[in-house]
Amino acid sequence: MTPFSSKTLYVHTIGCQMNVYDGEQIARGLAPLGYRLADSLKSADLIVVNTCAIREKAEQKVFSFLGRLAGLKENNPDLIIAVGGCVAQQEGERILSRAPYVDIVFGTRSIDRLPGLLESVAATGRRQVAVAMDGDAFLTPRPPENETRVSGFVTIMQGCDNHCTYCVVPSVRGPETSKPPADILAEVEALTAAGVREVTLLGQNVNSYGRKEGLCAFPELLRMLNDLPGLDRIRFTTSHPKDLSDGLIAAFRDLPKLCNHIHLPIQSGSDRILKRMNRKYTRAVYLDRIDRLRAACPEIAVTSDFIVGFPGETDADFQETLSIIETVGYDSLFAFQYSDRPAAPAARFSDKVPDPVKAARLQQLLDLQKRITLAKHRSLVGRVETVLVDGPAKKQTTGDPDSVPAAAWSGRTAGNKIVNFTLTSHWKPEDVRPGRLIPVRIDAAFPHSLRGRPVDRGLRPSDAKGEKSHAA
Ligand code: SF4
Repeated sequence: MTPFSSKTLYVHTIGCQMNVYDGEQIARGLAPLGYRLADSLKSADLIVVNTCAIREKAEQKVFSFLGRLAGLKENNPDLIIAVGGCVAQQEGERILSRAPYVDIVFGTRSIDRLPGLLESVAATGRRQVAVAMDGDAFLTPRPPENETRVSGFVTIMQGCDNHCTYCVVPSVRGPETSKPPADILAEVEALTAAGVREVTLLGQNVNSYGRKEGLCAFPELLRMLNDLPGLDRIRFTTSHPKDLSDGLIAAFRDLPKLCNHIHLPIQSGSDRILKRMNRKYTRAVYLDRIDRLRAACPEIAVTSDFIVGFPGETDADFQETLSIIETVGYDSLFAFQYSDRPAAPAARFSDKVPDPVKAARLQQLLDLQKRITLAKHRSLVGRVETVLVDGPAKKQTTGDPDSVPAAAWSGRTAGNKIVNFTLTSHWKPEDVRPGRLIPVRIDAAFPHSLRGRPVDRGLRPSDAKGEKSHAA
């Protein structure tokens, strides 16, 4: 019996998919100590807050969430609160001053130390801080138990060497480090053995995977994964445009399991701003990459990230951003107002854009993209798309433009679009269980989703649009 037998754990994750992956691994890593997932925050014996420092808002969210935990600790002095992730790495001991009820602060390269830190708290009653960057870049992977999802994440790289002037990742996640291919293959095999059909490979810049260590190049890793039985779809994020190689473009053409979707963050359409951001590509280079991707894979969906109101951004620069959105015709995008990050060089740039200007530009950008996304969705009406079934559709409400009828199912296309569908007489519920690939004819388009119905079961998924042929 460990001192933690029959205890419960609640992991609260803020931020990106990499944090989601870390959160899953934390939960699996604590299982041997007797921790099981709690039903709610209130019933947990240990709360792990997995934090994000990428934007000011995300960091504010962390401290506002920690504020909510103060009362829980007061009512239950035995509750242990641990804070990990990028804010923990950035703030270290300062978290203990701002939130004195926190017991453990552990950094991005100290996740594997969490069981030992818990034991130290139990043995000494003293608070613990572990934020040295000398720990392992990668967690010891823990195979999933009772996996119910059809999609899983695998982190293949940690850290970044690019030093974009607005970004804290190089300081909170450390230098770029790649995981050996054999470890990645073993992790993906463990996921597929547990029922996962789609895997998303994660890293700050997967396009430079393996370069420093002399491992295989990223397209080669994709080819190895493409050959794994039991895996139906491969996705990855995020790509840096400067490192998007011809080999990767060819992989979109050649690999049946590689989904026809790329997330290619551009951040700004203005060369002047891209230079100040230290992005190391121009608008023309980016557009050339998009042309080559579309030549290799005409149906590829393209999504991106934008920062609005970067220091020094003029109206003319912002117009360049709007024009590149029109030119590329993104399927969707994420856009944020610039915010200073204390550890990032741009925090010291003097020509800041006023908040109301940033807010107005962001709204203009989002309105433009909403129109483009809806047009893209409408262009799919009447087509048959292969959908990987996730499970029952989530929203059963009316009044929302994307609302779905009761008893609808949900899944995603290879282009990563949500499709809600109801069954026709050809299909029984057991035919559309999670993990199945089925052909769905698109009947209606909405801002955030599509709606359709499965076509005749005689049509194989490989006959449908939007999925390269593969065994169903
Ligand atoms: S590529 Fe730039 S934005 Fe992306 S993680 Fe690295 S430094 Fe940050």
